Amino acid sequence: MTRPSDLHVVALPMGEFTFAPGEEYEGQTGVVVAYAIRHRGGVFLFDTGFGFGNAELDDYYKVRARTVPEALAQAGIDLAEITAIANCHLHPDHSGQNLLFPGVPIFVQPAEWAAAHEPDYTVVEWIDFPGARYEQVAGDHEVAPGIRVFATPGHSPGHQSLVVETAQGPLLLAGQAVYSHGEWAGLAGAREGASVARDQPAYARSVARLRALNPKRVLFGHDHRAWP
Ligand SMILES: [Zn+2]
Ligand SMILES: [Zn+2]
Repeated sequence: MTRPSDLHVVALPMGEFTFAPGEEYEGQTGVVVAYAIRHRGGVFLFDTGFGFGNAELDDYYKVRARTVPEALAQAGIDLAEITAIANCHLHPDHSGQNLLFPGVPIFVQPAEWAAAHEPDYTVVEWIDFPGARYEQVAGDHEVAPGIRVFATPGHSPGHQSLVVETAQGPLLLAGQAVYSHGEWAGLAGAREGASVARDQPAYARSVARLRALNPKRVLFGHDHRAWP
């Protein structure tokens, strides 16, 4: 049996980008953060950062990506220790290095899988790769002892967050269901994702569902700062 104290979450800085012309935060630097959760059976990975070699994306967002092996090594984790993965969603800043993991289960919501195969949604060759093993799970679903995906559509059709049961209470990896520490805390002028969500009512419902979890700590896919 897994005790909550067995679970240990590590932030993996995956690089930076510059908000593009016309975007709300044009010219400002954005960050991408993935997370590794060490459990008794291995390491669960939440997000894989930007991929490499897409000139259009690199140019548009001035991408400065880090590799997953480098980020893991800095955290003392070997690539081979990763036993399963979930992406908060399949945009290219969160799923770009899935292709490093043939044969490793990758949990995805069916709605996200469908969206990822629509035109102009993501870099599809970073998603579909030889040996890819996507496991479609709809809604909330335990993916490892004490770790569950939690459906939070809004930013994207099949967005999902991750809830980790720790000794201190639920720890929430929001992904991009909430853009920043400031948005979660309700700070004026904070970077937020609500107003640019693909489905704003769904975004609001997902945030409400996350708040109802009463998490003790929240970590974000685009903010190094945790809440509280
Ligand atoms: Zn996105
Ligand atoms: Zn993103």
